Amino acid sequence: MKFRIGFVSNSSTSSFVIIGLMVDHDKLYITKKQRRCGCAVENIESMTYCSKCGKPVMEEAESPIPEITNHKIGGYHVHCINDCHIISIPETYKTDDDYAMNKVEIPENWDEIKENMKSVLEPLGLWDDDKFGVWSGLEGNY
Ligand SMILES: [Zn+2]
Repeated sequence: MKFRIGFVSNSSTSSFVIIGLMVDHDKLYITKKQRRCGCAVENIESMTYCSKCGKPVMEEAESPIPEITNHKIGGYHVHCINDCHIISIPETYKTDDDYAMNKVEIPENWDEIKENMKSVLEPLGLWDDDKFGVWSGLEGNY
């Protein structure tokens, strides 16, 4: 008979470790009003509901700030893990759902990496010294 130490559940979670800067959702996303349907209706701007399909004419939609393209900002990857956003230095994201132990290598040039990231993200108003570090947690549904 086998025993497993640790918690076992049917949920699909993975533990992760990442080095980078945690940034508030509101700093990375902006909410804009946009047309909801694509119906060609005259004077639709004056309507609350589309006269053709009945849907509200406008809806609020979130989009990333323009500095983010393809989940990257200034060459750094933007990870969205659950409701958190971490801008990571390359190659530091590790995830594992197999109860294994993973060694996390702390880069020798830690200070240099931090200063480089700060020089890119501080002008964008995203830098917070306390939010830079090694982050760990669980991701997925639980
Ligand atoms: Zn419509």
